[in-house]
Amino acid sequence: MYRFFTTCFLLIGLSVSATAQQNVTPTSPDEQRIEELLAQMTLAEKVGQMTQLNLSVFYKDKELQRDTLRAYLVDHHVGSILNLAYRYLSLEEWIELQTIIQEVAQESRLKIPVIYGIDAIHGMSYTQEATLFPHNIGLAATRNADLVYQCAAVTAKETRASGIRWNFDPVVGVGRNPIWPRFEETYGEDTYLVSTLGSAAIRAYEGEDLTQPDRVASCMKHYLGYTVPASGKDRSPAYLPEIVLREHFLPPFAAAVAAGTSTVMLNSGAINGVPVHVSKYLVTDVLKEELGFDGVVVTDWLDIVYLYTQHGVAKDNREAVKLAINAGVDMSMVPFDLSFCEDLIDLVEVGEVSTERIDDAVRRILKLKMKVGLFDQPYPEPAAAANFGRAAYQDLALRVARESITLLKNDTIQNIPALPLVKDSRILITGPAARSVSTLHGSWSYSWDGRQEELYPASTQTIAAAITEKVGADRVVCEVPTGFHTVTAEQIAALPELAADVDVIVLCLGEQSYAEHAGNVDQLTLPDDQRQLAMAAIETGKPVILVLSQGRPLIMEGVVAGSAGVLLAYRPASAGAEALAEVLFGDYNPNGRLPYSYPRRTGNIIPYDAPVRAERYYNPQWPFGYGLSYTSFSYGDLRLSSYELTREQPITVTVTVSNAGDRNGAVAVDLYTRDKVASITPAMRKLRAFQKVELAPGEAKTLQFELTLDDLSFVNTQLARVTEAGEFEVQIGDQRAVFA
Ligand code: BGC
Repeated sequence: MYRFFTTCFLLIGLSVSATAQQNVTPTSPDEQRIEELLAQMTLAEKVGQMTQLNLSVFYKDKELQRDTLRAYLVDHHVGSILNLAYRYLSLEEWIELQTIIQEVAQESRLKIPVIYGIDAIHGMSYTQEATLFPHNIGLAATRNADLVYQCAAVTAKETRASGIRWNFDPVVGVGRNPIWPRFEETYGEDTYLVSTLGSAAIRAYEGEDLTQPDRVASCMKHYLGYTVPASGKDRSPAYLPEIVLREHFLPPFAAAVAAGTSTVMLNSGAINGVPVHVSKYLVTDVLKEELGFDGVVVTDWLDIVYLYTQHGVAKDNREAVKLAINAGVDMSMVPFDLSFCEDLIDLVEVGEVSTERIDDAVRRILKLKMKVGLFDQPYPEPAAAANFGRAAYQDLALRVARESITLLKNDTIQNIPALPLVKDSRILITGPAARSVSTLHGSWSYSWDGRQEELYPASTQTIAAAITEKVGADRVVCEVPTGFHTVTAEQIAALPELAADVDVIVLCLGEQSYAEHAGNVDQLTLPDDQRQLAMAAIETGKPVILVLSQGRPLIMEGVVAGSAGVLLAYRPASAGAEALAEVLFGDYNPNGRLPYSYPRRTGNIIPYDAPVRAERYYNPQWPFGYGLSYTSFSYGDLRLSSYELTREQPITVTVTVSNAGDRNGAVAVDLYTRDKVASITPAMRKLRAFQKVELAPGEAKTLQFELTLDDLSFVNTQLARVTEAGEFEVQIGDQRAVFA
């Protein structure tokens, strides 16, 4: 904190006197073009480029107002627009809208195109009939970076098809507080997993060349520390010592920069009392200088305004703008008016914000526009539109949903495992998630909070519909209303009779869809209405199969204990119900692995890689990495190429994995290490690598992993990343070996 305040104070002091023009020597024709443009721009034109407004600003009575658009884009030089006006659009509507926006931008003096940004978070969230993939939390359960890449590649295509070239994705914050309502948007609690999958998404979004009609600029977010507010409430304060920030939260952003992300969005919250939007230390010193990030830093929604309306670190808008821009913000998601432009112009004129800072920001923004090809072709591209809605996308959505579903419990009843179900079973399907498509999708699904069932494509199935399709209506009893509703006392009372003639109860519990603050809760336990329904189901004595569609791990120890089988679907999206039905009836053998520690009780929320001293308290319902299969795998023959690891000589770890059961199956093999002694208390274990392999019954494969010295590093008390000499244990399944 002291470090931050000292730096900030110095910066403000410096910026007052700094007004000289910064000279940059262009090293490419694009840079030359940018410098020429910059040299012609007035201050108002530059500040306009730094301004991002919401689309709704240009609408009246649900109609786009070309004159209003012209007033902002031409007269006030606004350079960026985001989001929606009032609802999602069809592909054709997006194309028409983007065409109009760019036509108007071409009327401006310098004809600088507009860059449009959107939240295409798990697919193109705001285009009708776009394919939506499982949220990141489910993708992380697949342990399959190639699938993450493929989903992001399709999202890029459907976004660009809609005439948009900038996606506010991926979230690379590490999800270490499961009560936080945006947990589903994370890749879970492990830093390595988040870094690996986040980078895969970025490589897919950006490709080799962003001018291509199937790519979009990505936006790593939300830098830094957003995922772990102390209270669990969205955008509430976080307290994170720098050693923790650097150990757990900074690495995925560093990996995202290395993967080539073009932009970053800042954390709306405060760390140790300092809103990230005013932290010159985090934004300029660490992100831009230490990590070498040379892209655009955009604020989150209204976040400069929040500095004086919510954070209390600025007395008014003018001071807030000054703090944020001097901290290193390049673009403000204002998003409703010109207050940012007006105050910033004044601040530069009186010398409180330097011209260099403005030029740096505008240069970054123009470079982004150049990179995505807007200067040469600002209009929606027919070649891009041709990529929308291909049948293969649905196949991919199904494949990913299958690989994400995680089997957490499978009791054996009279020598037969409860799952998979036999297809001629008579089934009662109940629970609030049984007839809801929104619960399968979560946030950013055809609307911000994904709640509107009627906006989903007609082809999207509910769990009840997918099961019914599989076994026939005559085998299914389901009296649940459409949509996700609170369970009524009448429904609970009716359950025993409905269950009287069935063989099994499929109990669909979980969470309604929500986004951001709308998902804040005061407790992580299963809501009472659902718990009572579950207890009524368990009391019937029929086997209960719990199917969970939820963004975060709801605590339900008693319900789990009474259930014969548990399947966790996370937010599996478009093909989620179909995938669940396949898993329930054994047409697909599940292989998802938990990307977080599923808590058993409220007072026991501890990540799997907590310091060793916490080991005695780590008692989750299911640990990080847990996940069952309908077959069984065994591990053997763990070998190390050497028992001594040096910088020059990495260790190759080999292990043999065998399918000891009687079904085909895939298994994600996680490799962990444990540092035996270190200068700071080491983690219980750390995920260092993973691979997925498919095995036929009786088949065995030998897998190889490489461990380098850097893989074993941690951040020490001097905030340096080091690997200390000493013994380490490597763990794969039940296999162990020690090296030094
Ligand atoms: C969210 C961001 C999102 C932005 C634009 C904010 O409220 O925090 O993740 O990109 O809105 O929609």
